[in-house]
Amino acid sequence: MAVLSEQDPRLADVLAAEQRRRASQLHLLAGENFSAPSVRAVLAGPLADKYAEGYPGHRHHTGCAHADQVELLAVERAKALFGAAHANVQPHSGTSAILAAYAALLRPGDAVLALSLQHGGHLTHGSGANFSGRWFDFTGYGVRERDGLLDLDQVRDLARAVRPKAILAGAISYPRALDWAAFRAVADEVGAYLVADAAQTIGLVAGGVLDSPVPYADVVCGVTHKLLGGPRGGLLLCTEELAGRVDRAVFPFTQGGPAMNQIAAKALVLGLAATPEYAGYARRTVANAQALAAALAAEGLRPLTGGTDTHLVTADARPLRLTGQEAERRCEAAGVLLGRCAVPFDQAPPASASGVRLGTACVTTQGMGVPEMAEVGALVGRALRADGQEEARAVAAEVRALTGRFPPEPEQSWL
Ligand SMILES: *Cc1c(COP(=O)(O)O)cnc(C)c1O
Repeated sequence: MAVLSEQDPRLADVLAAEQRRRASQLHLLAGENFSAPSVRAVLAGPLADKYAEGYPGHRHHTGCAHADQVELLAVERAKALFGAAHANVQPHSGTSAILAAYAALLRPGDAVLALSLQHGGHLTHGSGANFSGRWFDFTGYGVRERDGLLDLDQVRDLARAVRPKAILAGAISYPRALDWAAFRAVADEVGAYLVADAAQTIGLVAGGVLDSPVPYADVVCGVTHKLLGGPRGGLLLCTEELAGRVDRAVFPFTQGGPAMNQIAAKALVLGLAATPEYAGYARRTVANAQALAAALAAEGLRPLTGGTDTHLVTADARPLRLTGQEAERRCEAAGVLLGRCAVPFDQAPPASASGVRLGTACVTTQGMGVPEMAEVGALVGRALRADGQEEARAVAAEVRALTGRFPPEPEQSWL
């Protein structure tokens, strides 16, 4: 940072402050992870500046020999890791991957069935504020009120009524494993494509903790920056039959030049994710989430679905008489970062919401285990009950002591 501090001291100061924040707060935001220093080194490497529109062997730019090798490596590793017939590693983000999946399979106005946002769906699953809701005709399915679990009978009934061109399975805040075979059966019955949005869970699939959607879905959308601990970016897996359509839907239909440095860093984590060490990390992440769910229940929150099969914990904050927004604010004041989330069948507007959503990818990367999750749960409980600055500051001091013992910059996050 020596050069930057001379070239742009204002920016250097902000980045230094962000580095301190990163080391001192407890990161329980479900979509975040700490990437390894090697990932960030690759991102800053020589491919950062290279234009390479097109695909290996068919570029619109010259000088792409090494870009080709790197992309082929990333594709080969993605295919091997997930047992997929075809992989595209160019999407700039999860949203870009989903946009391309829709572009490959759908036309504007087509009917799509997806998990409703109130029940855990993502913006790209039909929100009116997103291209998905604007360009396609989405119908939302949901979870059962009784146990909070996905209602496949409802999915089947809606599919029969709506005759969607595609069924989307996957969620941003549903903590349970999905029954891919059941989704495939519904899709086959109505002649729909099955698209898996595995952005949250693809790292657990890679680690062998969750069943893979690859044998069932026509297209699988994922990201490398969440559990995989890689660079910010998207990933598509599909059948051989759809390979050409998916590739053309990414480039030239929805993107221009790929971010080759990001693809190099994807190659790195797709290789690391095939190791037993990574599988151990994935298992510890889920064990930590299960311990955290139990610890939060002991603090008076109500875990949705009663627990978790993943790195995610969602919980109803109403037993503590807090909105999700207030819970988020109190936790941030105490140095704990978590997110608000909608509670199914609750009427609160999304901006305040009634639930919280937490993930254990970061804390597990930091080396915390089940014993620390009891501590983390207790800190979250204290932060939620703290209605004065003094108690918030006391919790923040304990958070700093904990993160001091488990710094977010291990040499190699899961080795
Ligand atoms: C994170 C996420 C996305 C979007 O990924 P971005 O990289 O933020 O665009 C889409 N769907 C689900 C389920 C996600 O968890």
